[in-house]
This record gives sequence, C-alpha cells and structure tokens, in this order.
Amino acid sequence: MNAVTAPTARSTRQWQAADAAHFLHPFTDFDALAKKGSRIITRADNIYLWDSDGEKILDAMSGLWCVNVGYGQRALIDAATRQLQTLPFYNAFFQTATMPAIELAELLAEVSPPQFGHVFYSGSGSEGNDTVVRMVRRYWELQGQPARQVIISRWNAYHGSTMAGASLGGMRFMHAQGGLPIPGIVHIEQPHYWAHRDGAAQGLSRDEFGVVAARWLEDKILEVGPDNVAAFIGEPVQGAGGVIVPPATYWPEVQRICDKYDVLLASDEVITGFGRTGRWFGCETMGTRPDLMTFAKGVTSGYIPLGGVLVGDRVADALIRRGGEFQHGYTYSGHPVACAVALANIRLIREQQLVERVREDLGPYLAGRFAELGEHPLVGEAQTCGLMGALQLVRSKASGEAFPAELEVGMACRGHCFGNGVIMRAVGDRMIVAPPLVITRAQIDEMCGLIRRCLDLTLADARRHGWLA
Ligand SMILES: *Cc1c(COP(=O)(O)O)cnc(C)c1O
Repeated sequence: MNAVTAPTARSTRQWQAADAAHFLHPFTDFDALAKKGSRIITRADNIYLWDSDGEKILDAMSGLWCVNVGYGQRALIDAATRQLQTLPFYNAFFQTATMPAIELAELLAEVSPPQFGHVFYSGSGSEGNDTVVRMVRRYWELQGQPARQVIISRWNAYHGSTMAGASLGGMRFMHAQGGLPIPGIVHIEQPHYWAHRDGAAQGLSRDEFGVVAARWLEDKILEVGPDNVAAFIGEPVQGAGGVIVPPATYWPEVQRICDKYDVLLASDEVITGFGRTGRWFGCETMGTRPDLMTFAKGVTSGYIPLGGVLVGDRVADALIRRGGEFQHGYTYSGHPVACAVALANIRLIREQQLVERVREDLGPYLAGRFAELGEHPLVGEAQTCGLMGALQLVRSKASGEAFPAELEVGMACRGHCFGNGVIMRAVGDRMIVAPPLVITRAQIDEMCGLIRRCLDLTLADARRHGWLA
C-alpha cells in the first residue's frame, strides 16, 4: 500500500491535524470541526465502517443515502478495474460514445417507467437538476411558449448545492448565503403533517391534509399564471429535509394539478431511485407519471460519482425532433468507468432482487420496528417508507410539543449515536436512517437496538437538564 494512504502511517491526531490544516469539508463549520477533529473512516464492509481507532460503526445512512448494495461488492470493484484498464475516459461530445454509456442508457430505459426512453448524464445529482432547469425551459421554447420559465419547488426540499440545485432546494439557510434563489424559481409549503399539526393540518386526517398540501401547488400556479409555469419538481419522499413521507393522497393530487395546467413534473429520485422505497423509482411508489427524473447516488451505490436525468418521451421528442443542438453538457457526461460501475450495480440489484426484498420483506419489517420505537417517550412521530425512516423527537409525548430549537436535542442524540457505533443523521430534532438495501432482518434488529439505546441516553440527558415539558 502507498505510504501516503496507509491508515497506520500516522496517528488519528496527526490525520486530524492535517485535515484541519487543508481540507474544507462540505456543509461544515470549518473552525468548529478543526477544534473537534474529524472522525477518520478507513475501511468498510457490508453495512459496517471502521474508523482509524479501529471502532466498528453500523452505517444506517448508507454513506450519504447512496451505498444501496453495501460496501465491498466485488462485481462493482471488478467492473471499475476492467474499465479503467480498457478505457479510463473518453467523452461523448465529439460525436463519439463508449460502450458502458450506451449499455447503461439501455438498461436505465428498461428499469424505469415506460415513458422513459432516454437519458442525459451528469456527474452528480446537483448537476442533474441543473440539467432539468435547462431542459424544461428549452422544451417550452420549442413549444412556442417561451414565457413558461418558472419552476415551482417546495420549502425544505433538497435538490443539491450548485446555483440551480440550491435554488430549487428550499433550504432557507442555503439561500441566505449567496443571493439565492436564482430568478424564476418559487417555493410552496411542504406536505409535512407533523410540522403543520398546529396549522394547516389541524383537525385533518393525514389524507385530508395531503389534498390540502397538493392544492398549494394549484394556488401557486394560479398566482404565477399557468402560462408562465414550466415545471414542478419534488422528491417523492423528502430526504435531507428529514425523511418526510407525504400522505398517500398528496402525489396523485399533484399529478392531477400538473395535468390540468399542462405543467411538467420532475421527480428528483436521487435518493428514492434504485429501490430505496421498494420500487425501482419513488414515483412508482407514489403513483405519479413524471416527465423527467433526476438520479445519482444509488445509481452506482456511491462507489463512483454519476448522475443524470431520465427524459420522458414528451420532452425527448421535442428536443430530438425540433431542438437542434442542445447547448449543454458536462465533461463527465457518460463517463465510461462510472457507467460500468452503474451497470454492475443495477445488475446486482436485479440478481439479488433487492427491490422486491425492500418492498415485500425489509420495508414492512423496518416499519414494524420503527413503530415500536415510536412508543418511546421521546418520540412524537415515527415514519418509514421502504428503507427510509424518521423519528421525530418531542418535548412532550402527550401534547406533541417540540423542543426549542436552541436545545439541539437532535444533535445530542446524534452524539450518542456517534459514541455507540451507529450512524444516524439529525435534521433538527428528526432522527433519520436509510440503511443499505442488503441489510438483513437481524441487522435491522441490531440497528434498532442501538437506536433505542441512543434514545434512552438522550432521554436521560433531557431529564437531567430539565428539557422535558
Ligand atoms: C443528494 C441529493 C442531490 C444532490 O446530489 P449531489 O450528487 O450531492 O450533487 C439532489 N437531490 C436530492 C434529492 C439529493 O438527496
């Protein structure tokens, strides 16, 4: 092994010092992390990670929602190695193509809903969403309706971190740094039953609220003017926003409204694609027929970066037959090594029937275990969809009252997870998981046991500090 990367070449403290000296981490308070020191992850297998101190950690977040087939899969490693040896790179700009990019386009058309016959590749989910913006606006120009420029998205959505991705996203703290959103992007409220419990959802069933939340889209279309609206974009289940599973009535009503006003529907499947919800794509779980689908993360199980947009026939036909040259693309659009890994990944998901396993076995099993965790005195709402789960921590189980944000109870819980060998993410006081799709029932039990211990430790903190209502 190369001396520079041998984990034993330096002590953990030395790695942390070098990290703090030179590496600016994404979405990180640089100064705070430099003082605390990063955890250095050195290797991984199946659903487990090991750090530079030799601690074993259960990765309940699949890296960053991406390692769907788990770590250490030989088929993906071999596919990358073979492709690196044969042809490590060639572009698709010069009227050229590589075989992995062609084969993957074919396979994506096969596993996606029938309206999708074409793909445009990018290097990431954010870039894929930039492509969505370019494509829907180009589409409406070609339709002779150039005024249709506005894209409607949702508050607390996550669509990436490029200028367009962050603008489409509804994270106000991101907009606040850098003058976002860019023009022509507007937001509506999210279909978050728990968050709206004292407002729009008060006195309503989940299903009643789902219809109300979808109608916010119609209100916005009418406010902007239907002739100015290009598309609506949404994640089937909001991921980074806190695993917010919408009521079952929400997406069908959104589809009806998009149809009524001839607004394109873009489904951001960066997390929900490739089996996460128990179907190949989240739109199939939610019952929509999107015109465009953004993908990334799970397409390669994160082994190598790749993203893109699946383009439905309606948009593809216009671009192909009447578009002329589309003035957009990335150096790594269709990168052969990334595409080779994606091919191996999708074939493995098929062979191991991971999508069916999530739908029929693991998803319902996780739902049962999370329902049990929902009984915990600190948990006000437990939700799952396929292999995504959320536990909303509350100050009062009886009234559902939330903790004051400044107590940072979610961060306290995450700290206990860190100390107890399980990685969960905290979004405010919402604790979330999205484990690899290769997880077993026994490993779900192990994960939920660790989560329960962390909830107990957080409850003890809350009692000691007098945080409870
Ligand atoms: C992660 C994510 C993105 C951004 O993908 P990157 O590869 O980080 O650019 C976009 N949309 C959703 C729903 C995501 O979860």
